[in-house]
Amino acid sequence: SDVGSQKDRVVTEEEWLEKWEMGNIGFHKEEGHPLLQKYLDVLLNGRSGLRIFFPLCGKAVEMKWLADMGHSVVGVEISEQAVKEFFSEHSLPYCEEPVPEISGAKMFQSTSGNISLYCCSIYDLSSSIVGKFDGVWDRGALVAVNPCDRQRYASLMISLMEKNSSYLLVTVSYDPNKHKGPPFYVPESEIKSLFG
Ligand code: SAH
Repeated sequence: SDVGSQKDRVVTEEEWLEKWEMGNIGFHKEEGHPLLQKYLDVLLNGRSGLRIFFPLCGKAVEMKWLADMGHSVVGVEISEQAVKEFFSEHSLPYCEEPVPEISGAKMFQSTSGNISLYCCSIYDLSSSIVGKFDGVWDRGALVAVNPCDRQRYASLMISLMEKNSSYLLVTVSYDPNKHKGPPFYVPESEIKSLFG
């Protein structure tokens, strides 16, 4: 199969915002992802009270699951609508504040303090702003990143990881000539070269 067919494809931030406005969010899983349940032990590795990062989080219900287990969840999402829907669909009160380091960005935090969602581009984040994480749930994130931005994305993710952090990555496998993406096809060989 020819991965090159998706190499130059770009989905702009405006297009993502439009998907949310149109309710064109087939990627959202109301019931959460079965693979997180299956591999939860790998993510937690016997640890409690972790800081867990959700890149390109949408309104993933798994953020609520992990927060309810006592972990602290940080997500980043370009769509403010998605972030607000997350809190309202779980009846979670929240407050919102600007992020001094990133112009135009806002941080939405549950009143209980254990879920913080940054509304900005992931490429605006750095460990000096969000700290480092013990775990990452990457579903619909690396595969949603434009192929030309993968290297930048992976380097950023590595910079946000604590020494012993675990990273669960969900990818999809299909013939990239038959579907233009997202989700994009990221072959295993590329994951190895991105993350080592
Ligand atoms: N991980 C979520 C959402 C997957 S869809 C889930 O499992 O349901 C990808 C999401 O990334 C969309 O909600 C889109 O709005 C968001 N997004 C796209 N580009 C982004 C960027 N550069 N920074 C932050 N969020 C982005």
